[in-house]
Amino acid sequence: MVSVSRRSLLAFSAALPLLGRLDWAVAATPPAKADKVRLNYNESPYGPALAAREAMQRGIATAGRYPYNHMYALAALFAQQQGIAEEQVAVFSGSMAALRYAVLAFTSDTRGLVMATPSYEVPRQAAEAHKAPVHEVNLDAHHAHDIPAMLAADPQAGMLYLCNPNNPTGTLTPTQAIRDALANKPKGSVLVVDEAYIDFADAPSVVSWVKDHDDLLVLRTFSKIYGMAGARLGLAIGHPTLLERLAVFGGDNVPAGSSLLGGLASLEDVKLLPQRKALNAQLRDETLAWLKGRGFTCTASHSNCFMIDVKQPAQQVIEKLAAEGVLIGRVWQNWPQWVRVTVGNKQEMARFREVFAARV
Ligand code: PLP
Repeated sequence: MVSVSRRSLLAFSAALPLLGRLDWAVAATPPAKADKVRLNYNESPYGPALAAREAMQRGIATAGRYPYNHMYALAALFAQQQGIAEEQVAVFSGSMAALRYAVLAFTSDTRGLVMATPSYEVPRQAAEAHKAPVHEVNLDAHHAHDIPAMLAADPQAGMLYLCNPNNPTGTLTPTQAIRDALANKPKGSVLVVDEAYIDFADAPSVVSWVKDHDDLLVLRTFSKIYGMAGARLGLAIGHPTLLERLAVFGGDNVPAGSSLLGGLASLEDVKLLPQRKALNAQLRDETLAWLKGRGFTCTASHSNCFMIDVKQPAQQVIEKLAAEGVLIGRVWQNWPQWVRVTVGNKQEMARFREVFAARV
C-alpha cells in the first residue's frame, strides 16, 4: 500500500514537468499593497512547494478513507532518509501537539520541567496547566542553552526541553552541550529536543541519536521551511516506548491525507530545502547587517527569525510597526526591550526596513 501510494505520486510528478521548478517553489506572490506584512509567527512566506500543492490537491480525492496509509508512508520515508527505524517516527497534527503530550507524559506534580528563557513558551504553558513545577533558566552569554545551569535546576526533573535553533533568538546550542545534557540529566527524565528550525541551520540534527537513547525525543515540523503551517503536520522521533507514552494522549489523531501527501512530496523534493535555506540565510543576514549598521544589537540567528534590542519597550515598537501594517513577534518577559522578527520574502524585508527606519 505504501509503495503503491509513493509510486503513483512519482508517476503523477513525471506527468507534470513543471513540478520540479524550484524558482516557482520559492517565488512568493508579492503581497498586494493593502496586505499586512506578517513577520510575527515564524511562518514561511513561500507556502507549500509546487509538488506539495499538487499532492495536497490529489489528497482531497482520498479523503473518503482514513489516512493511515499516507501516514505510514510519510513515517517510512522520513525514517529512511534519516537512517532510523519506521517505529521510531510518529506523526501528529503539528509538532505542538506532540510537545504538549510530551509534557503531560513526562512531567507531574513531583517531576518538573526544565527549559530555557526566552524560549518557545508552549512547554511551560502545558506544564503549568498540568500543575508540574517549571524551572526556567536564562540563556547563556552566547544565547545558547545554559546546560550546566539547566542540569542543576531540578534534580527531580521529568523533562528537559531544548529548542535548537532556539525560538525566539534563532541561536544554536553546541552539539557537545546537548550530548552533556543527555548524559547528565536527572535519572528517569526525558530530553526533548525541538528541531522545528534545524533545516535553516548548518548545525547537525540529533535525530539519529534516538537509535542509541531511549530517553531522547526529537520534534520536527513541516510548518517552517516546508511552508505548511496551515496543514498541521509534525513528527515525534524517539524510542517506540516513548512514542507510546505520547500516544496515550492523542495517538492516531493524524492530519488529513492532503497534509500527509504534501509532507511526502516535500520530503521527496530534495532540492527545495537547500534552496529555501540559502534564500532565508541571505535575506536574514542582509537584514541583520542593515540593523547592525544602524547601531542595533541582534541575536546571531541560524533560523528564520532573530531578535533585535530596540533599546525601548518592545511592545511600543511592535505597535509602531503594526500601525504601518508590519506585524512582528511578541515580547518575552525577561527580554522586555527585544523584539522578534520572522524572515519574510524580499519585498517583505524591504518593507520592514522602510518602516523600521521611519518609526524606530
Ligand atoms: N516548536 C517550535 C519551537 C515552534 O516555534 C513552533 C511554532 O512556532 C512549533 C514547535 C509548533 O509547530 P507546529 O506548527 O508543527 O505545531
